[in-house]
Amino acid sequence: FWIPLSLFFIQMLYASDRSRFSLFILSLAFLSGLVYFIETIIVIQLPEHAGFTQAAKTNDTAVFYFFRQLSFIVLLALAVRVEKITRRSTLRFRNKISMTLALMMTLVMFPMLAHYLSSYHPAWTLTIAAYEDEHHYPVWDIRYVNVLILLWSALLCYMISVTRLASGIWNSIIVVCLSAIVYNFFLLLLDTYNLSLWYISRAVEVLSKLFVICTLMFHVFNLLKIFGDRVDRDPLTQIYNRKYFYEALPRVRSLRTEKGTSIMMLDIDNFKSINDNWGHLVGDRVILAVVDIIKDSIRDNDIFARLGGEEFGLLLPDTDGKQAMAVAERIRQNVQQRTGPGYHYALPVKVTLSIGVCSAIQNNVNGNDIMRDVDEALYEAKHNGKNRVVTRQAE
Ligand code: GH3
Ligand code: MG
Ligand code: MG
Repeated sequence: FWIPLSLFFIQMLYASDRSRFSLFILSLAFLSGLVYFIETIIVIQLPEHAGFTQAAKTNDTAVFYFFRQLSFIVLLALAVRVEKITRRSTLRFRNKISMTLALMMTLVMFPMLAHYLSSYHPAWTLTIAAYEDEHHYPVWDIRYVNVLILLWSALLCYMISVTRLASGIWNSIIVVCLSAIVYNFFLLLLDTYNLSLWYISRAVEVLSKLFVICTLMFHVFNLLKIFGDRVDRDPLTQIYNRKYFYEALPRVRSLRTEKGTSIMMLDIDNFKSINDNWGHLVGDRVILAVVDIIKDSIRDNDIFARLGGEEFGLLLPDTDGKQAMAVAERIRQNVQQRTGPGYHYALPVKVTLSIGVCSAIQNNVNGNDIMRDVDEALYEAKHNGKNRVVTRQAE
């Protein structure tokens, strides 16, 4: 089950970043084991007759295992090679052709070779594991196991030298290499111990691959989270953006709360002159400081968004007019008190806000009307001399 699963996750990563051809090859490396796995199952459940004795089956299992490991190693090496090339430049047409040929060879020729060298074709059979009838355990030809350990070690070195342990996905593949060396080493002990070592070896292999899947899932969910946040958040302040605010408005209004909903629109006073006198960088720092102070003055379940340049929106669920007025007044005073020289935001000027508030909003009030009302309240606050709160009751 882990083969299609890892394939699925690597494909998802590949789809999100087309330039990473190496991830595609990685997914093929994991997939390539499937055909040998199926061959092994077929051989094992065949009825015992002349061609398929217990000894032949044991050897076939070993032959398929050997070729499965070989193709895994070759495909991983190809993936590392592609990773190495794409880190320096892009893949050229010539690279792509040779890579595709090598992939096809490994994916098609290796399984065919394994099939021909198994007991399906007695004349050609490769003998990797002999079955001791006396003790009922397989004895592996140590040379083949040594070859695998040697190849895995070489691949491990190659992988480390290319990726320099700097990438999560590749580090988990490095763990696969390490555990491959370990579980192949177990096979060397098969003749001295017993068959359970074969199963321990397989368990280590499965665990190492599960580890890769977990790493990949972690990466995929991380990516999803990053993309999800990007859609809803304002890049400068990391609070919600205009789109999220307008989507949240009907949702919050439809909550049937006793006190209804209140909404606020807040705008920094004379922001243009701050920009003009102190530059845009100070302007940005003013925005960040104001956001910080407002966040500090509201509840966790209030929805706070940047609607535009220096204009913010605030949705207060289950908040009546009196409470909303108190919150607005608190925000206004906090901003006035905590900005200016000498305060921990180290702003060169004092900053003030004008706030429009609209309260007692029930579900039956039209969303556009609310936004118009709150906008008018804000306009009135600006018109009456700024640094003040104006509030309205929704009709
Ligand atoms: P009022 O008191 O009437 O609100 O006047 P104001 O100067 O604050 O209002 P106005 O809307 O005319 O000016 C807003 C300015 O904010 C215009 C724009 O250049 C600036 N601005 C918008 N977004 C950003 C930003 O992300 N960073 C900085 N530094 N300035 C911004
Ligand atoms: Mg302004
Ligand atoms: Mg403005």
